[in-house]
Amino acid sequence: MRLIYRFLSTLCVLIAVSSVAAAQNSEGPFYDVEPGDTLFSIANQFGLTVQAIQDTNAITDPSILAIGQRLLLPGYDGIVGLVGTRPLLLGESIRTLPVQLANERNILVQLNRIINPAALYLGQPLIHLEPDELGTAPTGEFVIAGLKDTMIGLALRAGTSPFELKLINGWPTKRLLLAGDFVYLPGGKILENLPTPFRHISIVPERPEQGQTVVLRVMGESEGTVTGRFGEDELNFFETENQHVALFGIDAMVTPGVYPLVMSVSTADGDSAALEIRIPVSDAGYQMQSIVLPPGKAQLLLDEEARTSEDVAIKSAATGFSSYGHWDGKFQSPITSDYITTHFGLRRSYNGGPFQTLHGGVDFGAPEGTPIHAPAAGEIVLAEELRIRGNATLIDHGYGVYTAYWHQSELSVSVGQKVQSGEVIGHVGDSGLSTGPHLHWEVWVNGVRVDPLEWLGAKIP
Ligand SMILES: [Zn+2]
Repeated sequence: MRLIYRFLSTLCVLIAVSSVAAAQNSEGPFYDVEPGDTLFSIANQFGLTVQAIQDTNAITDPSILAIGQRLLLPGYDGIVGLVGTRPLLLGESIRTLPVQLANERNILVQLNRIINPAALYLGQPLIHLEPDELGTAPTGEFVIAGLKDTMIGLALRAGTSPFELKLINGWPTKRLLLAGDFVYLPGGKILENLPTPFRHISIVPERPEQGQTVVLRVMGESEGTVTGRFGEDELNFFETENQHVALFGIDAMVTPGVYPLVMSVSTADGDSAALEIRIPVSDAGYQMQSIVLPPGKAQLLLDEEARTSEDVAIKSAATGFSSYGHWDGKFQSPITSDYITTHFGLRRSYNGGPFQTLHGGVDFGAPEGTPIHAPAAGEIVLAEELRIRGNATLIDHGYGVYTAYWHQSELSVSVGQKVQSGEVIGHVGDSGLSTGPHLHWEVWVNGVRVDPLEWLGAKIP
């Protein structure tokens, strides 16, 4: 019996020794442990399991990890050297990355397990070989094709053939080069007078949640026009301080995932370029709420036709774009009460029905008659008694931003009236489909309802 134990333990020691030997013999890829790393975070970063790293590196205690310790990463056959990670930056794609990271395309594809190059998203952690570990760093250039550039023209200038150029760029079937295409030119030839219409782009926040407002700023090389689209929504740009700015909302009901943001710039001298960036939209974690309404009021919700026609009327009144913004700086709170009874984004179920309804605004509880103030200057575009929303007012603040006030005690303003920031535009009531006196306040941005509280906390744009 004792002999068997001894035999088994010897065997285990042998296995451990052989795996250490394997780790030392291999040429990588390796990762050097950095401050703040844990085996778990490293495993996450490289799409591995803690156990796999432990096994490969013969680590018995995963909690002991030294800064600078060199770990062999399993599962990357044929890749030699030291690897690191960094997030995907604006404007980068699988075509630009080989140059920007000085890594070969196939190595990046293998390291990052890229199956669909179009699904790379901003901020995505990218695994790459560290430059000083590279045997043969590519020395090519990355350029943006201009209107006059052709596949053969660029190939000749780079000292290669169109066939090779297409292969290198991963375009086996592409026939025509379009202005704005990112082209990797091998051989390190730098082209002169290239159009670089995109001088600067900023997106805040870069990784929005459902219900957030996004501020997009684009700076072009010279005078020109900027257009864009987020998902299915066309963007409207206005100009301020030499920048083209577009505000847009992330729909609170949208499925979390990656959505395309497409922008194009055309300069006065005829150059143009388009850029597509993937924006990851994350789940805001909205709560669910069940509401029980008395039979009389519930009847109104069941009236599909009444509900839909009101929704359509509101959406069309709250969608539009005037190129003059009526506000400067932060929005003021529309009410002195800071007693919030219901936040934005809640999924609601009425009288036991499905959780299909979005609470598209924020509810402030306040006594009947409490004054409501305009949060910023604007123009009244709707002042009407509605069946569900009660006495309803809508203000256009310009640049595609609207605010809405439902369930008021009475209507105090009329359509076409200009209002100043802080001006009283109505009073808290209990009209329409309401369960007590409160102000339901909404903010619409580019036709989408967003979390209004964001507008009180920050200066937008
Ligand atoms: Zn409400």
